[in-house]
Amino acid sequence: MSVVRELFNHDTPAGRSIIAVVTSLPFFLWQGSSYVSALGEPALNQAVLQGIIALIALGTLIQLGTGLWLWPRRHAPEPVFGASLLLALTITVVFSAVQIAFGAFTSGANLIPVGLLAIGLHLFERRVVVITFVTCLVILLGADILVAAGRYPYAPALTAQAFDGSTPTEWWDYWRTWLFYIGSIILASIPLWLYNQLDSQRQQLEVMSRTDGLTALSNRRYFMERLETEILRARRYRRPFCVVLADADHFKKVNDIRGHHVGDEVLRQIGRVLGSGVRIPNDVAARLGGEEFALLLPETTAEQAQGVCDRIARKLREHEFGSYGDRFHVTISMGVVQGLEEEANALLKAADRNLYEAKAGGRDRVISSIGG
Ligand code: GH3
Ligand code: MG
Ligand code: MG
Repeated sequence: MSVVRELFNHDTPAGRSIIAVVTSLPFFLWQGSSYVSALGEPALNQAVLQGIIALIALGTLIQLGTGLWLWPRRHAPEPVFGASLLLALTITVVFSAVQIAFGAFTSGANLIPVGLLAIGLHLFERRVVVITFVTCLVILLGADILVAAGRYPYAPALTAQAFDGSTPTEWWDYWRTWLFYIGSIILASIPLWLYNQLDSQRQQLEVMSRTDGLTALSNRRYFMERLETEILRARRYRRPFCVVLADADHFKKVNDIRGHHVGDEVLRQIGRVLGSGVRIPNDVAARLGGEEFALLLPETTAEQAQGVCDRIARKLREHEFGSYGDRFHVTISMGVVQGLEEEANALLKAADRNLYEAKAGGRDRVISSIGG
């Protein structure tokens, strides 16, 4: 199972290039074996067919060799420009050759430039995709111009026996349906799968970018973002909301007496009490830094917020920190302010003034006011 995961590791450039090998090799093998099975078929020009088989074999070797070269580098963060360009060019040159050999209109291979953009952009750096895409277009356009100018035959792999008058024979029709349309379905499913992978990765990053690493509450950046949004919303709809600043009391002592790692655990547990005391995701519970926390309570008056904070303070008062044999209590002081027309900074200042007052008044208490 872990080898499969390693084969589809998209965290590094080398890992993504290995995905290109793993997903394109089956196409090479499948196309190669299809053409080998068509050897001797009178509908096909045998010399061209052999050329295509040789090209696919060479492409397979290049893919395998590059894959083996990439494998030990799969965890390294460095770009692998040369290797990924070689892979992308091999894939497109081989399939462009197939398209030219079987004709753009009689084969489904004209999906390749589209597939290249859809899949390539997920796997390779943009430079690689652009170079390969342009190469692919030059080859296909060049071939088409030569065909139009009468300098090169259309679909040289096909003999007259492939057609019954102007329509393909049943054999050719059947064969190309299998070869190209089933292939297109698989081709289409790969970018879809890759997109899902990358999308869940993106979502994970998004969650990480707004989460505090220690407590798993929101971080300061996300709190400020939500506060700005809430200020605008409250102003527009004339709705009340509250900002709470909370600071652990005498927290330095916890660190000094019991050590920093106990301090960290206390912060985690305070975070849990704060988080469970509000209604997330409507409310925001955040750690602003150090032993300072903040709550954003939309649709809440100062009086209601006072109630929420009193409940949290009581819960914390009853909460036992520490482990067996060393139980202790930690309290927090809180400053609440109900927003009116103020900017974020003015609100935070007002909440901080109330917090300071709570500290000065003996700690373990909530002071609230309305407006900055
Ligand atoms: P007060 O009641 O006035 O708030 O007193 P206090 O001791 O809590 O406040 P002070 O600002 O003097 O000290 C805060 C302490 O919080 C200092 C620092 O050691 C500790 N601290 C800040 N961030 C962290 C952290 O991430 N982990 C741990 N364990 N301690 C932290
Ligand atoms: Mg502090
Ligand atoms: Mg403190």
